[in-house]
Amino acid sequence: MKSPVHRCRDVEHGRGAESRASSGGGGYSQAERRIPVSKDIITSSSASAVWFIKDACGIACGVITWMLVLYAEFVVVFVMLLPSRNLLYSVVNGVVFNGLALLALASHFRAMCTDPGSVPKGNATKEYIESLQLKPGQVVYKCPKCCSIKPDRAHHCSVCKRCIRKMDHHCPWVNNCVGENNQKFFVLFTMYIALISLHSLTMVVFHFLYCFEDDWTKCSSFSPPATVLLLILLCFEALLFLIFTSVMFGTQVHSICTDETGIERLKGETGKWDKVPCREAMRAAFGGPFSLSWCSPFSGLSCAKRPLETVDQGPRGDIIEEDVIEIPLN
Ligand SMILES: [Zn+2]
Ligand SMILES: [Zn+2]
Repeated sequence: MKSPVHRCRDVEHGRGAESRASSGGGGYSQAERRIPVSKDIITSSSASAVWFIKDACGIACGVITWMLVLYAEFVVVFVMLLPSRNLLYSVVNGVVFNGLALLALASHFRAMCTDPGSVPKGNATKEYIESLQLKPGQVVYKCPKCCSIKPDRAHHCSVCKRCIRKMDHHCPWVNNCVGENNQKFFVLFTMYIALISLHSLTMVVFHFLYCFEDDWTKCSSFSPPATVLLLILLCFEALLFLIFTSVMFGTQVHSICTDETGIERLKGETGKWDKVPCREAMRAAFGGPFSLSWCSPFSGLSCAKRPLETVDQGPRGDIIEEDVIEIPLN
């Protein structure tokens, strides 16, 4: 007995998973058992094309992030380090702070401009399904919003207007989703911002002590009220960002280690896949065994470009109407 090629069901992956979780069923029924589609079959839509989300709010948040880092740079260099009479103190702190700030901005840029693991739009076509060579009984899900075949653990992002593999969340501060391909850069961004925040806070404390002991007119090239205002603003900014980014850093590392994304925890979808051990998950997220390149936002830079016609194009053809596509059992 042959079942029809594409059986229509009234569930969509995201909603279906949620309703199953909330009904306490705790998973897929025998008939609906979903065999995950390997991520290698469904490739990223723009592996090496420039990725940039045109979202006004995200772009504004991204610009604010850069302005805040540049403000900290200005206060650290021109208010604290240049007027200092201790040359060694200025040089060492200047090199450390500027080095970390450069790494933070580079991580931000790469988190923003790296494809987080997008699934090609509109690839839910009959031709494409056939090319996947799925096994009988295998079930695949279509995203009704972007008409793509959803790989296992992919979620649709309404800002990116795409399904993103292992989507953790959409971060307006980096104007991008945090997903399988750019999580490393996001982790590095939060780490370096936390480090420059801690460093600048320490320097502000030392500078205040230095100014209180010494003459206020000599400890800065700015007037005493301007110096105090600039330092207090930096202190406030650094404290806020230290708390925010260190919490974010901890959450992200925990997510990688437990092999659970933020969205999966939120939707109660955990425990539906074979979890990889922490070490393996860290290797996968950071691109290889532990080395200095884990801390570098510059690693994995490639100038290789795919031919234009293969970029951002799923297979063409008529898009299948059903949200759940089951391959017939012979
Ligand atoms: Zn989608
Ligand atoms: Zn997104």
